[in-house]
Amino acid sequence: MYQSGKLMVYSLLITLLVSGLIGWILGYPREALIISLFGWSLYQIYLFERVMKWLKREDGSEPPEAPGAWGDLLDGLYRLQRRGHDKERALRGIINRFQHSSAALQDAVVIIDQKDNLEWWNRSAERLLGLSPKSDRRRSILNLLRDPRFIRYYRKHNYQEPLELTSPINEQVTLQYHITHFGQGDRLLVARDITRLKKLEQTRQSFVSNASHELRTPLTVIRGYLETFQDQELPKPLMRGLQQMEQQTLRMEGLVRDMLMLSRLESTEHVTEDVSVDIHQMLKEIRRDALILSGDQQHQISIDADPRYDLLGQDKELHSAFSNLVFNAVRHTPAQAEIRIRWKVDVNGGHLSVEDNGPGIEPFHLPRLTERFYRVDESRSSDSGGTGLGLSIVKYVMVRHGGQLKIQSSLGKGSCFSCHFPPDSVIALENEALATHNG
Ligand code: ADP
Repeated sequence: MYQSGKLMVYSLLITLLVSGLIGWILGYPREALIISLFGWSLYQIYLFERVMKWLKREDGSEPPEAPGAWGDLLDGLYRLQRRGHDKERALRGIINRFQHSSAALQDAVVIIDQKDNLEWWNRSAERLLGLSPKSDRRRSILNLLRDPRFIRYYRKHNYQEPLELTSPINEQVTLQYHITHFGQGDRLLVARDITRLKKLEQTRQSFVSNASHELRTPLTVIRGYLETFQDQELPKPLMRGLQQMEQQTLRMEGLVRDMLMLSRLESTEHVTEDVSVDIHQMLKEIRRDALILSGDQQHQISIDADPRYDLLGQDKELHSAFSNLVFNAVRHTPAQAEIRIRWKVDVNGGHLSVEDNGPGIEPFHLPRLTERFYRVDESRSSDSGGTGLGLSIVKYVMVRHGGQLKIQSSLGKGSCFSCHFPPDSVIALENEALATHNG
């Protein structure tokens, strides 16, 4: 038993002993015992009431004086209460600091609960998203940010990639939204003002695009003259020089063409409606061009394409992407290498792959292959006639078609570049259409 418990028992025993003794002297021992027990109980109830009254106050004031066990109990409760108050104060300090620091943030920070309602936001959220502390608390985020692209992004639940949109209150401001899950179904939305970055990016894109445009005319003139000179009877060393000049001019033209293509892919949404693309026919044309590129190297190029399916997309972009893959297979494999082009459809969508049995690529290069001008073997690749932009173009085309480029390769065995399209971009042909196609 605790010391305080013992004290209570002693006080009861002493009360009973003294009252019993007095009662015995006066000749009423039983009555004296009952009265003293009743009195002792009333006193305990009175002390209990005092403790409760103090507990209810919750103002951190000192506890009332109380004898024996009640005193010990009050001391213990007081200590507990103070510890609780200290913890609460520390927590409030942390919350205040968090609110102050997030208020000072340039980024908008918004906490959203499981029911999509706004719970808390900082001052930048009022400036960038137009949230109002008076009217928007507990309102649904989807009623405030109504752009369909935001709603689609918000409902997707997969927030690996950020979303870029103009601010709902200022068309001139571009925001980048990031959402993170936390707690039990709560979400943290961060919106960053990227207007300056976006402008810089646009300036860079238009510079590349303008420079490439400007280079086109002088290159055409130079090539025209070079062709004319080659028709003349000229000394051999001069002829060799002219041939090399023409080769380099052709390379520069290719570079300019690819740079223009890339900047168009980067800077614009789809300009025209998606159309049904006859993949079978397109692959046949690409194969024909690839055989011309191969020339006397005689690459073995085969097509295995399911003719029952077309692809919904941008004709020119897809042609450019697939031909880049097939031409790469010709350029980066030795003479007579085998190249297989496949077009297949399954429940996951449409899959176009270009596989070769060339030298393959070491694994550590693979993640960087789609970077601009990244080459596995600098000296060999630039000789091969490529521009160093082919796979970047393929990657962009795939992103614009909601698909993905995957690269598998093993050294000494060969490589496989595959383009995966989502199921909704595959068109199954009716029998009639199929007959016309194949005809
Ligand atoms: P390039 O114009 O140099 O071909 P790409 O962006 O098309 O530029 O390709 C990047 C690099 O990837 C190439 O330089 C080459 O080293 C490597 N590569 C691409 N396709 C193949 C392939 N089929 N086999 C081996 N290496 C390849």
